Amino acid sequence: QRVGFAIVGLGRLALEEILPAFGEAKKCRPVALVSGTPDKLKAVAAQYGIAPERCHSYADFDRIAEDSAIQVVYVVLPNGMHREYVERAAKAGKHVLCEKPMATNAADARAMVAACQAARRHLMVAYRIQYEPHNRRAQRFVREGTFGRLVGMSATNVQTVAENGTQQWRHKRALSGGGSLPDIGLYCLNTARFLTGEEPVEIYATQYAPPNDPRFAEVEETIAFTLRFPSNFIANCFASYGARDDKHQRLNFERASLDMPNAYSYEGQRLTVTARQEDDTSQNELVIPRRNQFAAEMDHMADCVLADRRPRTPGEEGVQDHVLMEAIYRAAASGMPVRLEPVAGLDAFR
Ligand code: NAD
Repeated sequence: QRVGFAIVGLGRLALEEILPAFGEAKKCRPVALVSGTPDKLKAVAAQYGIAPERCHSYADFDRIAEDSAIQVVYVVLPNGMHREYVERAAKAGKHVLCEKPMATNAADARAMVAACQAARRHLMVAYRIQYEPHNRRAQRFVREGTFGRLVGMSATNVQTVAENGTQQWRHKRALSGGGSLPDIGLYCLNTARFLTGEEPVEIYATQYAPPNDPRFAEVEETIAFTLRFPSNFIANCFASYGARDDKHQRLNFERASLDMPNAYSYEGQRLTVTARQEDDTSQNELVIPRRNQFAAEMDHMADCVLADRRPRTPGEEGVQDHVLMEAIYRAAASGMPVRLEPVAGLDAFR
């Protein structure tokens, strides 16, 4: 029996990635939809075989409480709406999968964790990269010390946004929580933490918003930040809405470097190891079977519901990213490094 998901918000990600990914999932299926646009609701429901009585508007969302076929609510709304719908879902007795970034600030993220705890429901943040096979292999190399100590990482996540996109919620701070940092820089931040299981203790940052560009009146276009971890692993991260697409991750170990073009893309990941062997160097592109990241992530949520197990990427992980993003903004605003108290890594949750 597949776990039933309700998809809340039928925007680009839901329509182009999440709903199609159920075709590759093994443990879950979409059973309900929530949208503010009745025509879209009807068309998408027909496409995925969802019953009309399981199509809800935002106003009648809370009626999902009466529908036992819905076990998980997947919140795919603008960031500033995540808290409200996670809390309403928990109140309706549903487990919740919430898109990244979890919220627009750490305080809201903490409230979301508390709401799900109070309702005794699981809360997972949709960090799809942590379910992607190439990044998982890279994590194994780090954790097993295959190539010696991980000395550094350089992580780039940049893409352009439409010129006429001024009305888009991503440019409104109240709905987005920030610009390129929470939207795409978060992949660099979260993956650095995921690879090492460590939490940064020192942060440097700088940011830029082009003057007179209404898209960047409220949020940054470009941000660079450097994270130092307790093992002295240093991650150099760069995110921007102003540069042609590039999602490249490079890991530098004592005895090898790992190159991962498209590291944060929906697909097309690759992993090449360049290693020193005696006096020579060898270069190998590893053959790693692909897996649809959204299907893998949703199946994990389904497993957690079926086995009553804590997700590998729980709400607490989202809270920590918000704490760190707030520190990154503080560092950028002050031009000074921000030092953080060492805290235990979140591996205990994984
Ligand atoms: P989108 O703008 O395409 O979709 C948002 C949906 O929310 C739309 O259907 C819109 O109608 C609806 N909505 C309801 N109330 C709204 C309001 N007041 N203002 C604006 N929209 C409103 O956005 P998206 O790209 O699908 O992003 C949705 C969420 O998914 C965000 O949290 C985003 O960060 C996340 N996301 C994650 C990934 C990933 O790879 N995991 C990729 C893209 C987006």
